[in-house]
Amino acid sequence: MKKVFLILLILITFGFSMKLIKVEDNLYMVRGHDGLPSKENKGFISNAFAVLTNEGWVVIDSLTTPELAREFIKLIKKESNKPILYLIVTHYHLDHWYGAKAFKEKKARIVGHKNLKEVYESGEAEQVLEAQKQIFKGILDNVELIPPDITVAEGKSFTIRIGKDEFEIKAMNPAHTNTDVIVYWKNRKVLFAGDLVYKDRIPFMGDRNASSKGWLKALEELKKYDAKVILGGHNYPLDKSAIDWTYNYIKFVRNTVKKLKDKGYFIDEIKQAFKGNPYEKVKMYGVFHNQNVYKVFNELDLELE
Ligand SMILES: [Zn+2]
Repeated sequence: MKKVFLILLILITFGFSMKLIKVEDNLYMVRGHDGLPSKENKGFISNAFAVLTNEGWVVIDSLTTPELAREFIKLIKKESNKPILYLIVTHYHLDHWYGAKAFKEKKARIVGHKNLKEVYESGEAEQVLEAQKQIFKGILDNVELIPPDITVAEGKSFTIRIGKDEFEIKAMNPAHTNTDVIVYWKNRKVLFAGDLVYKDRIPFMGDRNASSKGWLKALEELKKYDAKVILGGHNYPLDKSAIDWTYNYIKFVRNTVKKLKDKGYFIDEIKQAFKGNPYEKVKMYGVFHNQNVYKVFNELDLELE
């Protein structure tokens, strides 16, 4: 019994603390918990990455809240007190963008997809934030949306050079969202893939601006990079086999929905027909899979192949 209490105490005290992991020389990450934002995890449900260049830090993704972002900043500043030069936001989801204010306070320049700026300026992002504050009560109270200072238009890329380090930033066509940006750290062959690549975790394909068809194309594009490490928003470091893993799941959902839809199945019958499929035991299946099926069902109506 005593042992159980001790384990519980350790979990309560340290279970949700943020730990900086050194991936390689000058490359650090924090690894978020798997799940949706909750009082227990305080919204720490995704990864953030930091690269130390000779002039300062380049950070990829902001975490969910300014509080979490400040904790992350404190950790990297312990490694080096050099300034934070850039925060690159891989897409508009709360766990990648909502902590941006803490980086703005540190005078970092915010880089993102052109559509991220548009969704901010149209007020759509603010509406989403207000709705999410209701869903995830008490977690997002200090979030303030920050638009990107530097934007990249869909399908375009640009390169940031800092000393010997080169970062190619590419704005993708709609895939996981319509604001997806990837970063390729060229001289180190490290690909920051945002939420486009996963392994042993079900991707979320249910965003209002997602395109499963576009996502497959994006993955084909990512395969062309000579990446030796892929860093995604919700896994430990991956290799290129993760691109295939993600591709296969999306393809499986699309093919299955398509086949059943052509037979005249309704959405609920299609959801039922997925019972017993090989992905059922994969992390986040219960949270995302049915939303993915529903989204693909609707997407297929709009696709002319
Ligand atoms: Zn996401």
